[in-house]
Amino acid sequence: ASELPPNFIRNIMKADLESGKHSRIVTRFPPEPNGYLHIGHAKSICVNFGLGQEFGGITYMRFDDTNPEKEKREYIDAIQEDVRWLGFDWGSDDRLTFASDYFQQFYDYALILIKDGKAYVDSLSQAEMREYRGTLKTPGKDSPFRERSVEENLELFKRMAAGELADGEAALRLKIDMSSGNINLRDPVIYRMKNDADHPQTGTKWKVYPTYDYAHVLTDALEGVTHSLCTLEFEDHRPLYEWILQQLPVPCTPRQIEFSRLNLQYLVVSKRRLIQLVQEGHVDGWDDPRMPTICGLRRRGVPPEAIRLFVERTGVSKSDNNIDLSVLEDCIRETLDPVVPRAMAVLEPLRVVITDWAEGATDLLTAPKHPKLASLGQRKIPFSRVILIDRDDFSENPPPKYQRLTPGGEVRLRYGYVIKCEEVVKDAEGNVIELRCTHEPGTRQGGKTMDGRKVKGIIHWLSEEHSLRCQVMLYDRLFLHPNPGASHEDGDFLRDVNPDSLKVLSECAIESYAVDEQPGTQLQFERLGYFCVDKESSKDRVQFNRVVTLRDTWAG
Ligand code: ATP
Ligand code: MG
Ligand code: MG
Repeated sequence: ASELPPNFIRNIMKADLESGKHSRIVTRFPPEPNGYLHIGHAKSICVNFGLGQEFGGITYMRFDDTNPEKEKREYIDAIQEDVRWLGFDWGSDDRLTFASDYFQQFYDYALILIKDGKAYVDSLSQAEMREYRGTLKTPGKDSPFRERSVEENLELFKRMAAGELADGEAALRLKIDMSSGNINLRDPVIYRMKNDADHPQTGTKWKVYPTYDYAHVLTDALEGVTHSLCTLEFEDHRPLYEWILQQLPVPCTPRQIEFSRLNLQYLVVSKRRLIQLVQEGHVDGWDDPRMPTICGLRRRGVPPEAIRLFVERTGVSKSDNNIDLSVLEDCIRETLDPVVPRAMAVLEPLRVVITDWAEGATDLLTAPKHPKLASLGQRKIPFSRVILIDRDDFSENPPPKYQRLTPGGEVRLRYGYVIKCEEVVKDAEGNVIELRCTHEPGTRQGGKTMDGRKVKGIIHWLSEEHSLRCQVMLYDRLFLHPNPGASHEDGDFLRDVNPDSLKVLSECAIESYAVDEQPGTQLQFERLGYFCVDKESSKDRVQFNRVVTLRDTWAG
């Protein structure tokens, strides 16, 4: 459709199908299982799986597991759960793959490279290698081990693989060009020794491990990936990606295409930083509802459709972006508004006694559960002598244009009556503890006042004895600065953590019809926002997370 934001990758794929270059699109989502996925990964998931689906191709769920020290089964499982929850599926078990599935093939390819004189075993230390590599401004210089014979290299590499050398004693490097302007081409290391690694998939079988650059391109080629999509920081690696493909008898030649990373203002999207937030206790775990992790967003109550909409709306391009949080929030509202039931909830209750209403008498008012979705049906809202309203819907010294309740003023109770505040009751310290009001009977369910006078303000409320108590968590942005860390000399993003990002309200009340302690249940609290039952909820104490506020359209 013409309203779709640009996605240059879609255009490339379309052209490749039309020209007959490819008969089927093959993509992959290749996370390293060293942490939980965040919303940046969600973009990569939507792009890879989404385009695969759109063109009737296939997409691999592939774990890039070449760093056994940092990788865990826990992450492998969580990542699959998150991808499924986002609404994507790899379709069959043979599309759930691991780079480690191909360790033997990578090894065999390395033997070919050695035999062709394109790889050598280097015995420089890591520090020496770094020194020999040179810088952006200065060329590198050849390692003294660069001209080892093919036989010697084969022998040494086999000894590496057998664990006969110590970690760091030798590495296998490609023989490309130590004076290249692109540092990635200065004889990159493709194998390192890791004698003590215990790999989640292959255990202790391997003593040599391939580097990302070597393993990634070969996995793409072995899986028949047509378009290998990655983020822009890999642009400089593309020449190496292509060089490797040219040297080896691979079954296909994937094309690497880079797009810009998703960044969100007032948040961080980098596993390294997210790990720090968790480990240093700034948040309550990976799935803390303030976290931009997929599990955090899910726990908070963000629907997967909203994340997909957000990715579609923000587009795929090569330009830098730092997206405003409000774009995501709009997507959440647009997704929840048409489907979630409504309820009234009072977050910070103030007691209101309707003095002209008989004790023990109850009036049952009705309201639709959703203003447009008639299929959800109606709800009954009991009205009685003692009701609760939100503290900030009453003001003793109202600012100009204030339309809610004031001493001597009138307000309409949503779906109910017009009431008038006759008396303000205070405690010894002067805090307002109760209001005493009267009601006008003819105004029931939106009825007009007797004399036709206008009552503009409408507030939400609950019958004290008929409502249920619950706990509500209000979240604010996790950081105080749109680009955490950027304004400090030391770049420390933790200095920008918002100390008030969580507000817990424990005395909240809610319409009893709406209470369902099932985690994930979503509601709109009228006038307040969208809320979701938290996973810690129990029958005895229902807990809600505020997903997002309503648009700020409530005047006065
Ligand atoms: P991080 O920097 O947070 O550790 P990563 O890129 O190291 O992320 P991987 O597990 O390697 O994490 O990423 C899997 C895929 O997700 C990669 O293809 C990567 O390019 C993509 N990806 C990661 N972060 C983003 C982001 N912010 N925007 C778009 N794609 C991303
Ligand atoms: Mg990574
Ligand atoms: Mg990274």
